[in-house]
Amino acid sequence: MNHPQREKQKQNLKSQIYDLLVIGGGVTGAGIALDAASRGLKVALVEKYDFASGTSSKSTKLIHGGLRYLKQFDFKLVADVGKERRIVKRNAPHLVRKLQMLLPVYKTGSLSGFSLKIALFLYEKLAGVKGGERFSMLNRKQVLQIQPGLNPEGLQGAALYSEYQADDSRLTIGLIKTAVAYGAECLNYCKAIQITEKKGKASGAIVEDLLSGESIEIKSKVVVAAAGPWTDEIRKMESSDSENKLLLSKGIHLVFSQEKLPVSNPVYTDDREKQRMYFLIPNRGKVYVGTTDTLSSDAIDNPILEYKDIDYLLDAVNNTFPNIRLTSNDIESSWVGIRPLIRKGNKGPSEISRKDEIIHSDSGLLSIAGGKLTGYRIMAKKVTNLVIKRLGMKTTCKTKWIQFADNPETDDLEKYIALRKGEASQVGFDFIDIKRLVETYGKGCEWIINCAFELYHKYPNSEQLKIAAECHYAVKFEFVCSVSDFLIRRTGHLYYNHNYAIAHLDFVADVIQELLNQSDIERKEGVGYFESASQQALPSL
Ligand code: FAD
Repeated sequence: MNHPQREKQKQNLKSQIYDLLVIGGGVTGAGIALDAASRGLKVALVEKYDFASGTSSKSTKLIHGGLRYLKQFDFKLVADVGKERRIVKRNAPHLVRKLQMLLPVYKTGSLSGFSLKIALFLYEKLAGVKGGERFSMLNRKQVLQIQPGLNPEGLQGAALYSEYQADDSRLTIGLIKTAVAYGAECLNYCKAIQITEKKGKASGAIVEDLLSGESIEIKSKVVVAAAGPWTDEIRKMESSDSENKLLLSKGIHLVFSQEKLPVSNPVYTDDREKQRMYFLIPNRGKVYVGTTDTLSSDAIDNPILEYKDIDYLLDAVNNTFPNIRLTSNDIESSWVGIRPLIRKGNKGPSEISRKDEIIHSDSGLLSIAGGKLTGYRIMAKKVTNLVIKRLGMKTTCKTKWIQFADNPETDDLEKYIALRKGEASQVGFDFIDIKRLVETYGKGCEWIINCAFELYHKYPNSEQLKIAAECHYAVKFEFVCSVSDFLIRRTGHLYYNHNYAIAHLDFVADVIQELLNQSDIERKEGVGYFESASQQALPSL
């Protein structure tokens, strides 16, 4: 997927007739592209910014059944996505890690120990959780041993249950790369600006290459919009008077250092004031905290981190850990996401089900929105089944068993990491570096280590050598076109290693620029650095 191929890809997009054009390169679109391509369809996917730059890089990053949806009696959603957790873990083992979530029970909390036991029993039954992974109940002393510092007032005990976590953007990039391996043509920075029609039926789209300004017509037998919060916008391209189907809800996350917020075990608890549940998740030496769920009227492309949401989360954490006293000065980075919820009468964001819905337009355009990161594969299967029917074909879904293209193909990741470490120490990578590379790029880490050997004389500084090798890989194999593609969505450095990212900003920009200059990609001014203030991580407090 290197850039010299971009011109070739554009030529293909112009000259071929596709079975399916997918608009949107978040987890839903990427999942559909993989499902359809693996069934033998000729597939094109266009993403207006970077892959995963929408909601699919701004979630809580849990691969979960959503315990809280039991409260809404959403048993089918819990069962469907709960079972998906194991499939995602099996197909992308390097991206998904298992967590033991601590759910404390307080005397005045929203859940009693008894109702929590029943809820978890039901949750695990629905999600088909196996023996070794079932929940256990802890007494107060055990809870404080596992997570010291938790508010002891009224604490009665806790449940410890299994969850999974994965970097949402890496999951999306992994799906895109796997879809490409099956022959899909996937292009980022390529925005759909018009749905084309032939005899009143959707026949493709006009897209604009945002890097060159060029317009291209893509012809396709079926068009699917998987544009998350932008879905109504796409539907209006096809019929300007279509009613809005979505309710947009904003969710923020704040990142703190583990020294400031010493959470060693993931915690799911309520804020103790509004009795709203939120997560504290340790990751890469930091702890991220979220989320909120408030109606959003922000421009979807640039949702804003608001003081009231920051204050809400700071108060929640300070109530949960009363001796810590976090302030806004302790925030290291943040992200803001928009949930594309399916509007249901006058219901507010927290009352609306996270179910997905497929919308059929008169022209035949299919749009899918709602749902969850965890359920991407089932959503993709439903959409692709409809596409197959339209095309008059007969194929079945294969994605349950499709391994991600980057999968290191071993059951023993620890051994794989240890093996890589031996050779890589010669070029400055230590155990933590290698672990992160394997958990980010899977077997791509082998290419990065080899690249570091080749660049050894060019970059005598070991930190620069390591990051340069990673940039080479990301530009060559992962469609990186800008500093934010690399520092936010390919590596997560801006979220979890903010100072390191800022210290290496100019260097990364130079390396990426040099690599792009070597290729035939044309770059427009402004695509370079960070795309928005809210993604730059810190509000000016
Ligand atoms: P997006 O990721 O938004 O993708 C749509 C894409 O379409 C975007 O990349 C956009 O740029 C592109 N696009 C738009 N217009 C055009 C155009 N004209 N041309 C081309 N491309 C276009 N789910 C979980 O399972 N677990 C969680 O822990 C979790 N936590 C969440 C926390 C928050 C705060 C939020 C907001 C959501 C969370 N979710 C979670 C839900 C999950 O993140 C979403 O369901 C999922 O990411 C939606 O993916 P998508 O591909 O449908 O949308």
